[in-house]
Amino acid sequence: MAATSASAPTAGVRQGVGVSPGSAYGPVVRVAAPVQPPQNEAVAEDTAAASEAAIASFMFVAEDLEARSAQADATARDVLKATAMIARDRALHRAVTKHLGEGNGPATSINLAIDEFAAKFEALGGYFAERVTDLRDIGSRAIARVLGLPAPGVPSFSVPSIIVAEDLAPAETATLDRSLVLGIVTRAGGRTSHTAILAAQMGIPAVVQLAGATEIPAGTPISLDGDTGEVVVSPDPEAVASQRLRRERRAAALAEVSGPGRTQDGHPIALLANIGGAEDAELAGAEDLEGVGLFRTEFVFLSAAHAPTLEEQTEVYRRVFTPFDGRRVVVRTLDAGADKPLAFADLGEEENPALGRRGLRLSQALPELLETQLQALAAAARLTGADVRVMAPMVATVAEARWFAERVRANGLPKPGVMIEVPAAALRASQVLAEVEFGSLGTNDLAQYTMAADRMEGELSELLDPWQPGVLDVIAAAANGAKQAGKPLGVCGESAGDPLLALVLVGLGVSSLSMATSKIRGVRLALKTHTMEHCERLAAAALAAESPAGAREAVRAAATPELVALL
Ligand code: PEP
Ligand code: MG
Repeated sequence: MAATSASAPTAGVRQGVGVSPGSAYGPVVRVAAPVQPPQNEAVAEDTAAASEAAIASFMFVAEDLEARSAQADATARDVLKATAMIARDRALHRAVTKHLGEGNGPATSINLAIDEFAAKFEALGGYFAERVTDLRDIGSRAIARVLGLPAPGVPSFSVPSIIVAEDLAPAETATLDRSLVLGIVTRAGGRTSHTAILAAQMGIPAVVQLAGATEIPAGTPISLDGDTGEVVVSPDPEAVASQRLRRERRAAALAEVSGPGRTQDGHPIALLANIGGAEDAELAGAEDLEGVGLFRTEFVFLSAAHAPTLEEQTEVYRRVFTPFDGRRVVVRTLDAGADKPLAFADLGEEENPALGRRGLRLSQALPELLETQLQALAAAARLTGADVRVMAPMVATVAEARWFAERVRANGLPKPGVMIEVPAAALRASQVLAEVEFGSLGTNDLAQYTMAADRMEGELSELLDPWQPGVLDVIAAAANGAKQAGKPLGVCGESAGDPLLALVLVGLGVSSLSMATSKIRGVRLALKTHTMEHCERLAAAALAAESPAGAREAVRAAATPELVALL
């Protein structure tokens, strides 16, 4: 397949990395980058008029935020309203006027006032410090307004479109309107970035790592294939039709298999959903799947300013469990930190947040937060008929597993588990899993920590490739440990949703696969067309390779043609 050069924004086929399945066709909506004031901006000659214009730009930003809040869900609504209030703050407006009076240009004055307020917010700490990002966003929007440039961030639009951005923050992705966003394309971003994960969970086809993406003009029609990573700019009608045909053929083949996950020779492999809240749970609950293998509870509270109360949490969890009466729901306790900061669970700046006090380490530092969450989970479990299991993120040692399991059991929740996403826990899986009832491989973080490559860094996607033989070795070690301990081990990282890699994972010994709902059908078909012995051969072939591409090719060559024809 021909990929055009990285810099050509013109028509043609380009290759990115598909991270959320499905295809889309529609006009581009560009997400503009934050705007900075021009260097050496000319002094405002009429200070009074410039002050009026700057204040008007803040008011415009406030009105825009308020209008968007009217369409957002409850959590996003509160954040947008609070942000609009900052834009209306008279003290902020007075600071801009002061900087104008000191001989600065309008955009520079806004920037200086924002800097001044950011420093004040940071000094106040806590809730205020958490609002600095919002404050800077207001500044950038107001500057764009006075300079007559497009507003940064996702603009409001009413025609179903494809969002094209340099990258999207998880909070930005979470607030996208599913009915208007046909697809997402980013120039940066990684396979396991939380934006990619959220897009798959929201059922929005997405492609990341598309060279030249941000040069595609707004309004240009594009088509994207979130399975293959192919994007066609200004596609001719034939290309759109052939993409649609391929999609329909695939959908028809996938619709033929249903029911619980099974290998061709009948070994059960539970097919489970990854979810991020009650809305996802309601959608997933209506699907043909065996339950939830990962409920990322931190996703519910990404924009909450204060710790949710016991009652608030109980209500969210009750809503999540209700659609799964009689089915399992694996809940992960708050995995806050790194790229998922929570305002109410902040331990301050860290040099290397991905290696810092995140996940269970944060729960150990703030035990009352974990306690409230466990109480709420237990209360919600009692109110519903779901088979609730609770696991901890980022467990590294036997002692941590024991500490967590004690607390879970003490709250009347009988099935504690742990994520295996730190190499030390994978290598010591037999001892770690002896403390709990089950393990779940978080292959996203496991790849990040095994390869020493930041999962947020799109430029390192080769190292982060889940097919890296070194990562597969660590998974194999964990699977052996689980076997020794006699405990079930699943996978809930993105690897589970890749049909070929899922076969390798099963061949290595995992007994459940949890993924975005949109990926389940492909994996079900993969299992159905391979025996356990075949999966074991595929796993051996992958382990024998010396590169991720080699592993993928070896498995592709040895998989059934029936499956390969659909990939
Ligand atoms: C993982 O690390 O693989 C995982 C499932 O957790 P998260 O992606 O939320 O870090
Ligand atoms: Mg993780």
